[in-house]
Order: sequence, then structure tokens, then C-alpha cells
Amino acid sequence: MVTSMNELPVEISAASRFASYLTAFEECVPLGNRLLAVLAALPHGVQRDFLDDPRFQITLENFVPGSGWKLWVGVPGPIGNGSRCVVLRPKLAHCSEAFAHYVIAHELAHAFLRNGGWGSIVDREEAADTLAASWGFARPR
Ligand SMILES: [Zn+2]
Repeated sequence: MVTSMNELPVEISAASRFASYLTAFEECVPLGNRLLAVLAALPHGVQRDFLDDPRFQITLENFVPGSGWKLWVGVPGPIGNGSRCVVLRPKLAHCSEAFAHYVIAHELAHAFLRNGGWGSIVDREEAADTLAASWGFARPR
């Protein structure tokens, strides 16, 4: 990869860019792939918001104690300081791809919005749905 003093490398694949998030899904590769598909489709500014925030984490629900998942359990912090952890359910590996993509995007939208509203949309769920739809992941009918 060629870089100059003033230029960041631009040819970084999504898989390597988001590798730290995918580690939690090594035991659930189909879901990791679905997560990666959504992450890769997000606007660049949203990707940066996540990647630049060390508090932002994505993990898998129902981890098995004793198998290394301790690394992925966030230590609760002060309000507003530890609340950017997206938890995905293993069943998202098995439902329809469109529904899984929608749920993942919806949860990521909550994280991006810091669990708040979006513009004039005050309702948190409506805000997350609307933002997810703007990323191309509308709630399937
Ligand atoms: Zn929600």
C-alpha cells in the first residue's frame, strides 16, 4: 500500500477496517458476515464515528462463560460513557438476511444517535428506523 505524508491509505477493505468488531463473531461467522455487510454499507462519516470511538463495541448476546468472552464484556461506566455497546442476538444468523440486516442497522443507528432522536424525530425507535432506512436497510414488510 502506498501512502504519502499527507494521505491516508484509502484501499482498506471493509473486513480489515472492521476486524476488531468481527472478533466477537468468530463463533458465529454467518452473523459476522451479515454485520460486515451492514457496516460496509454505512456512510463514511458513520463508519468513522464508530471507529474513532473506543467506547463503541459490538458483541454477541448469550456468550458462553469461560470461553474467552470476558474480553467483550464492557465495564459499566458513568452515564453516557459506556453506553455505545451494540449487542446482537445469535438468532440473527438464521433469520432472513433482509430482516437481519435491518435489525443490525437499527441497532447501529441507536448507537450512532447515542440512543437519542434524529433531527425532528423525537421517538428513539422511529429515529433508528428512519436512519437505518436512509442507509438502505428499511424494515422488511
Ligand atoms: Zn430500537
